[in-house]
Amino acid sequence: MFDHLLSDDALALRAEVRDLVKWVPRDMILDMDRDRIRFPKDFLREAGRRNLMGCRYPRQWGGRGLDWVTTAMVMEEVGTLGYIFACVFGVGAELVCDAIIQHGTDRQREKYVKPLLRGDLFAAECLTEPRGGSDFFGTTTTAVRQGDDYILNGQKRFIVGAEGADYFLVYAKTDPAAKPHEALTCFIVDRSPGVETRYLYNLMGCRGGGAGRLVFKDVRVPAENIVGQFNNAYAVFNTMMIPERLGTAAMTIGAARPALDIATRYTSRRRAFGQTINQFQGVSFQIAESAMLLDAARAMIFTTARAVDDHCPPRFIRRQVSETKKFVTESCQKVAHHAMQVMGGIGYTDIFPVERILRDLRLASIWTGSNEVMAMIIANEWYREQLSQKPAELVRLPEEDAESAFVADEKIYE
Ligand SMILES: Cc1cc2nc3c(=O)[nH]c(=O)nc-3n(C[C@H](O)[C@H](O)[C@H](O)COP(=O)(O)OP(=O)(O)OC[C@H]3O[C@@H](n4cnc5c(N)ncnc54)[C@H](O)[C@@H]3O)c2cc1C
Repeated sequence: MFDHLLSDDALALRAEVRDLVKWVPRDMILDMDRDRIRFPKDFLREAGRRNLMGCRYPRQWGGRGLDWVTTAMVMEEVGTLGYIFACVFGVGAELVCDAIIQHGTDRQREKYVKPLLRGDLFAAECLTEPRGGSDFFGTTTTAVRQGDDYILNGQKRFIVGAEGADYFLVYAKTDPAAKPHEALTCFIVDRSPGVETRYLYNLMGCRGGGAGRLVFKDVRVPAENIVGQFNNAYAVFNTMMIPERLGTAAMTIGAARPALDIATRYTSRRRAFGQTINQFQGVSFQIAESAMLLDAARAMIFTTARAVDDHCPPRFIRRQVSETKKFVTESCQKVAHHAMQVMGGIGYTDIFPVERILRDLRLASIWTGSNEVMAMIIANEWYREQLSQKPAELVRLPEEDAESAFVADEKIYE
């Protein structure tokens, strides 16, 4: 993050987060990648003990009353430990709690948010189903009313914290006859009889986060565990896409940063043809591009975070968040790719962690809404915004600034 853009409170918090980053034992990072630690509860307990999670929430619920700019800085710093650390940090505290803070009841905030931010409870977010993640509103998991409860049936897959979480934020169909945007309800589901973690995946990267398949079989969920309005999970989903995608983008920068640091040092010491390899432009220009991409990515995170803090119009934020997620994740993947390239063969081994960073970051453009879905949203919002402007409202019509602009016979569109 650019120091001059951060408040004093944010800078003080960054020092605290860096202290946590120093605290993490090397073995924890390696054991997660080895799948020996399946879900890092010790890490989250420590983060909770230090009151580092959910810094933008009111103090009443365990936060620090700060803002999105500060949250983005925290996510970047935690990401330097490895992508999966920021992911488990983010899923419970920054996503699930965000939904409950914004849409839940005080009872839910007391019971689920406060203990999670203290590091005493763990949570997972359950959107994706085996039948598909991109088509979220096609959800087939169902919840049917029975007395004061709902009976939940269905499956979710690729859920970080499927192993490890104490409760789950689950989207389920509650009105099969309604239009997709009016058919879903969001529930808090405790780990209880009928909730089963079935399968942990052999992931390419981002290991150690308990990612698995969850099966819900006749799970009894009290009606008081509905988050937001019945049949209006759409509202919850909409606000969740900010922490989901902006948070993901911020942590991606943190996860890529060490790759550039390692590659910078390595190329300043490694010699070929009688000189250090950073003296070859073929090498140093890749480092230069990486530094530029990370700075540009961070600048984009900062302006988008400010747009959220300043309550800019929701549709503008929707486009900004989608652009940020796509641009930042693709830039960071390029940074990791360059780092490996300039290190030559050693970069491809586990002598340096660049190979793990590259494996981890591959996920960035797939999850929390694939980058194709981001492009779809950006295109929709852009066309809508642009075409809603009437020509008379424009400062000038640039298309008229051409020599033959008024040759009407040549302006053929069909
Ligand atoms: C390690 C890991 C952890 C995850 N953690 C979680 C989690 O904690 N909670 C959770 O709910 N989910 C989680 N996910 C799921 C993730 O968000 C989904 O994998 C992602 O949204 C894509 O969904 P899908 O895999 O079903 O792919 P699909 O939806 O089947 O998409 C397949 C391909 O088709 C493309 N595509 C689909 N629709 C369109 C379209 N309209 N236009 C253009 N292209 C399109 C996609 O971009 C993609 O390239 C995780 C995934 C992984 C791998």
